[in-house]
Amino acid sequence: MNISFITNYLVIGLGSVGSSTLYHLAKNNKSVMGIDRYDPPHTQGSHGGNSRIYRKSYYEHENYVPLLEKAYNGWDTLEKTTNHQLRFRSGLLYTGQANDEIIMGIKSSSKKHAIELQEVDMPNDFPFFKKEENQEAWFEPDAGYVLPEKTIETYLKLAEDNGARILKSTPVTQIEQTNDGFVYVEIENNQWIKAQKVIVTAGAYIQLLKLPLLELVVTKQSIFWFKAQFSRPEIDLQKYPCWMFSHPKGNGPFYGFPPICTQHSGNELWFKMAHHHPASVPADVLKNPLESQAGLNTDISEYKETILSYFNEVQLTPVYTQHCYYTNSNDGHFIIDFLPDSNRQIVVATGFSGHGFKFVPALGEVLSDMAMGKDKSQDLEFLKIER
Ligand SMILES: Cc1cc2nc3c(=O)[nH]c(=O)nc-3n(C[C@H](O)[C@H](O)[C@H](O)COP(=O)(O)OP(=O)(O)OC[C@H]3O[C@@H](n4cnc5c(N)ncnc54)[C@H](O)[C@@H]3O)c2cc1C
Repeated sequence: MNISFITNYLVIGLGSVGSSTLYHLAKNNKSVMGIDRYDPPHTQGSHGGNSRIYRKSYYEHENYVPLLEKAYNGWDTLEKTTNHQLRFRSGLLYTGQANDEIIMGIKSSSKKHAIELQEVDMPNDFPFFKKEENQEAWFEPDAGYVLPEKTIETYLKLAEDNGARILKSTPVTQIEQTNDGFVYVEIENNQWIKAQKVIVTAGAYIQLLKLPLLELVVTKQSIFWFKAQFSRPEIDLQKYPCWMFSHPKGNGPFYGFPPICTQHSGNELWFKMAHHHPASVPADVLKNPLESQAGLNTDISEYKETILSYFNEVQLTPVYTQHCYYTNSNDGHFIIDFLPDSNRQIVVATGFSGHGFKFVPALGEVLSDMAMGKDKSQDLEFLKIER
């Protein structure tokens, strides 16, 4: 065994969750190293595509709300520390029937945790959108979208500034624990890293490390960008919110973002939309890795009718598509825990099931606290491997 590096803390995977964890450990003056198979941010994992929705009246499980409070504080601190705007508070508009899981969930969460949620009148309040007669419309003002790539860049820069060592384009091939009290992590060419504590935040590739985790299914998700032409010129795009509309057949909501310029759109404003539902076919992350794709993927036809049915007096032309991975746990909840029988030396964070990004500042703090042996202030029982 050739030991190339020795470190107290090692973070495997420096994407969304790993970059924040690396920073939180470095900020605590720990000897910490981070390693990634690519050069994050990148389009080969779960964070590509310019924007992610953040919201607090959580319908998935009310226990996420305290973690979101921590995340909201974390975003505030990060933006203040760096003077970078990473969040845009556009608000979030929800529609669905009164008995829809999402509508019931946001109402219950907002009531229990005193989160502002307003019933709104459509189309009067939001003239660009339509809803069905039998649906309700709710608006969460303290919600919006964050910039994932810029967040990761920011955390990695801050981590390095605080003394973290970063190794890019280096895949970890296995993790071994011996009875000398260390964890050994193999990288290419039979080189090993020796660490006291390891935090595994390897996203969609985590199964390649063959850890004893709950069943995970990785799916390849499509994201679509459109050009929009509004027939009423007086429409104020400054008031265009993020939106999440329940599918009447209960097949996961469609969601979208205010128009922004992207690296592909140049000066044009493009509208991004997607379907929050795991794709039907599991993805094989290594046999068919994601490629950045310019241009239009024709499978938009599957969604076009549904998407068009949400809009009022808008002509939408699809212009661009990209893919990204969901790592789905079998109940849609995250997995945050020590690996069984690892003597609390290996922490894993996975199974984000398409809704993890908004938690990134909190997850970095929680995972670094777990690795440092500090008491967790959050109740994360519902996210344990055995639950
Ligand atoms: C289309 C789409 C839309 C989404 N929308 C939202 C949203 O609106 N709101 C929201 O909150 N969340 C959303 N999510 C979910 C969110 O983006 C993910 O939960 C989050 O990015 C997962 O972070 P991660 O750190 O697990 O994965 P990643 O960010 O992919 O990071 C994992 C890193 O590990 C590295 N790695 C993997 N294996 C190895 C190895 N063996 N050795 C070294 N490095 C390795 C990878 O290269 C990668 O950089 C969305 C996801 C997708 C795909």
